[in-house]
Amino acid sequence: MIRQAKGKTPRRPPPKKPSNNQKDPVGVYCRARPLGEEDEECCIEVISNTTIQLHAPDGLKANRNGEFKETQYSFKKVFGIKTTQMELFEDVAKPLVEDLIHCKNGLLFTYGVTGSGKTYTMTGSPGQGGLLPRSLDMIFNSISPYQAKRYVFKPDDKNGMEVQNQVDALLDRQKRESQTSVPKTPTTRRFDPEFADMISPEEACKASGVDEDSSYSVFVSYIEIYNNYIYDLLEETPFDPIKPKPPQSKILREDQNHNMYVAGCTEVEVKSTEEAFEVFWRGQKKRRIANTQLNRESSRSHSVFIIKLAQAPLDADGDNVLQDKSQVNVSQLCLVDLAGSERTSRTRAEGSRLREAGNINQSLMTLRTCIEVLRENQMCGTNKMVPYRDSKVTHLFKNYFDGEGKVRMVVCVNPKADDYEETLLVMRFAEMTQEVEVARPVDRPICGFAAGRRQRNQAFKEELTRRLEDRGGPVDGDSPTVLNQLLQSFPPLPPCEISGPNDNVTLPRLIEALEKRHKVRQMMVEEYNKTANMLKSVLQEQDSNLLSKENFIQEQRGRLGEKDKMIQNQKNEIDRLEKKSKMLEYKIDILQKTTNIYEEDKRSLQQELESREQRLQREMSEKRRMESRMQGIVTDAKLKWEKECERRVNAKQLEMQNKLWVKDEKLKQLKAIVTEGKTENQQPKRPSREKDKVPAKRSASPSPVPSPYNGSQSSLSSLEPIYYFSQTIRPDPHFPRPGSVSVASCISEWEQGVPYSRRQGSQSPPDSRKRAQGLPDSLRRRRGRCWAREVPVQPAETGPPVRPLHRRSHSAGGERWVDHKPTTNVDLDTVLQPNIPNAIKVNAPNEKALSKCDKYVLTHQEVASDGEIQTKLIKGEVFKTRGGGQAVQFTDIETLKQENPLAASRKRRSSETGPDGEPMEGNWTDVETRCSVALEMRAGSNLGPGYQHHGYPKRRKP
Ligand code: ADP
Ligand code: MG
Repeated sequence: MIRQAKGKTPRRPPPKKPSNNQKDPVGVYCRARPLGEEDEECCIEVISNTTIQLHAPDGLKANRNGEFKETQYSFKKVFGIKTTQMELFEDVAKPLVEDLIHCKNGLLFTYGVTGSGKTYTMTGSPGQGGLLPRSLDMIFNSISPYQAKRYVFKPDDKNGMEVQNQVDALLDRQKRESQTSVPKTPTTRRFDPEFADMISPEEACKASGVDEDSSYSVFVSYIEIYNNYIYDLLEETPFDPIKPKPPQSKILREDQNHNMYVAGCTEVEVKSTEEAFEVFWRGQKKRRIANTQLNRESSRSHSVFIIKLAQAPLDADGDNVLQDKSQVNVSQLCLVDLAGSERTSRTRAEGSRLREAGNINQSLMTLRTCIEVLRENQMCGTNKMVPYRDSKVTHLFKNYFDGEGKVRMVVCVNPKADDYEETLLVMRFAEMTQEVEVARPVDRPICGFAAGRRQRNQAFKEELTRRLEDRGGPVDGDSPTVLNQLLQSFPPLPPCEISGPNDNVTLPRLIEALEKRHKVRQMMVEEYNKTANMLKSVLQEQDSNLLSKENFIQEQRGRLGEKDKMIQNQKNEIDRLEKKSKMLEYKIDILQKTTNIYEEDKRSLQQELESREQRLQREMSEKRRMESRMQGIVTDAKLKWEKECERRVNAKQLEMQNKLWVKDEKLKQLKAIVTEGKTENQQPKRPSREKDKVPAKRSASPSPVPSPYNGSQSSLSSLEPIYYFSQTIRPDPHFPRPGSVSVASCISEWEQGVPYSRRQGSQSPPDSRKRAQGLPDSLRRRRGRCWAREVPVQPAETGPPVRPLHRRSHSAGGERWVDHKPTTNVDLDTVLQPNIPNAIKVNAPNEKALSKCDKYVLTHQEVASDGEIQTKLIKGEVFKTRGGGQAVQFTDIETLKQENPLAASRKRRSSETGPDGEPMEGNWTDVETRCSVALEMRAGSNLGPGYQHHGYPKRRKP
């Protein structure tokens, strides 16, 4: 409970302190105590003098599924079990004592689990004095020659320090002595450890650079914080054995410098280590008694031993303490033995003790929170409120963290397994504490007097004493005084007893003696005056010297001020630069991160690029392969065509030769007739008749197919459809046709739009012609359609009419077809429809369909130049490409032409009436031609499905 807030005086601005921007982190040291005799498992290991490692004990490992855990913690220094108290003191507390003597504050606390050695570290045991007795010893070793007389420094009630003059101090001393007239009982003293038991004299140490021109006084206070109440352990309350008064708790106040202090706390002025230690022990005893009486556990309380050092400069003479309160400097060193940091459950506290334990933990929790918030504020530049006021411990030490001072912590650890988990928490807290920074205390301003005053004063006093001693020896064993010496230097007085009224001797003798004395006195006065004058002149001289020196000092001080200013400026500059460098570091950090991201991006892009390049390479090589394959195909086709052309040329030549031969024959016959007629009229008729029979026979023979082109013969309507059926291709010795018809050649023929056989038909020799006969009437009645499959037709002998039989599609076997019919196609009402069983019908070819089939057929319609609808069946084979796709290689085209019979007959007629005047032959030839261009689809042909309109061709006998 903080009650002081009510009565607090209005906040004054803090006194101007020299600005200080330097900060030091909290110094955290770790000390491991030896394992107890009953403990077996050791959980810690000192790895180096700054690092300690914690091993999870075996039992714990098993609990955590055998998870092996080792953690390392680093501190400013780690002290192993062999570290002596002296070594620890040298490293940890000595610098704090040095600081104390140089007017700087310090805070040292021990932290750890109960039994980890906090009290051992702080207090120690006989022969093993801890940090506290050693600190006291060092302080007194350093300042004892310069101590002020008791009560010269007098604490006020507001955490300040006053100076008294010698007389007031003497009066106070006398008063105090009369009050505490009761001597200390020697019996109690016997059991208390004395300071001499704690530290051996050879371990004594001393601070350096102690200001000899100051006077010092040490004050100690000892408080205990239990259950968030502060108790004064040095308060002297009259002890009532019948009804012992419970100890009164104290409150915290803030002084005018905003430092926290325990209001009304006893501050005992101590003049020696022994005395100080005795006071400490008195407090310790009181604590123990209170704990026993109130059934408290000492490990649950925090004890704070405060050493205050007051110092003030000597006056100009170097004789007395300067009577100026503003020149008094007070620094303090707090030695805190914190309560055990373990959780409540561990101590098995029950009932009221649980509450206590809870509070104790609460105050340590607050300490933890404060440290965390401080750290966060310092590291992140935030300005969060640090909850110092939440507990007395943190509130009391608030100034160390938000003001200035040096803070050190000794973390004590017990290596035993039972403590492992608690120790882990302690370590984490300790490591975090190291990250908090505390403003470094500044140096005390120099007082205005010349240095070495004390020494000069002492030297003067010694000199005076010596001189006085030289003047005469001691009288009656008394110490020589100036008066005695003077008296001795006068001539002795004669007896002054007057024997009678007529005694004329005594008085004149006395007069004479007195005159002599007067003379001596006069001489002495003269001498004294002379000496005084001399001394005066010397003093004047000294004064002027002093003045000039003071001037010099003033001058130097001015310069120093300038230098100070310069230093300050430089410091500011350094600060600015530091901030800037921090900013830049931060920026660099960000840039580094950005760079990393970019580099990552770059790497991934490069990878992608590489993969794409590889793909490109693959595709290129694929393309090259395709190219070479296509080139191969092209050269193949070219070669084939060249051969084909050659063959056709040869055929043409043969044909022409045949024609020539026929004509020659005719000519010969004609010649023979002519010549025979001239010579012999009857005899040669026979051959001519026989010859004439041919055309007659030709004309007499019934036209096998009613042809629209043959108007005279056709009894059918001009609109009647005509069917041409193909015949099997036969090798013919008279007809040099290409051996086997290649699809490519057919395509080429169709592309030219001129039926091969039609062109050729008219040119075929007359004996090779053949007429198709016996066409069923039903078929004849159909509308005119011409299936133009450019397959050279073998001339067939006149014979029985070809039986139109439907051809069985080869695809009925294992082949699977993709039947591609674009939606733009017009439905034709013809029976000549491609019938592909088991085909996948598509409007547009797709990968899926293609992948399932090995054959492909496209039904393509177009309007030919003569207005006919031309339907093409373009066939091909489906190949799998390397890239996993499908390719169609076209192998065959079938064409169905739906034509206007009128137009066709008209056309034909005009062509019939040729200038040669042989219409019958032309007509006949045309029918032949028509037949020959009919489509051929042999069973077993690999050309696939076609329009099923084939009849078996008439076979010629070999
Ligand atoms: P805490 O104050 O942390 O509860 P103590 O200081 O009372 O623990 O130590 C418990 C016991 O361990 C004491 O008997 C003490 O003498 C012993 N001890 C602690 N630290 C050390 C050490 N570094 N060397 C030897 N003994 C130690
Ligand atoms: Mg203890």
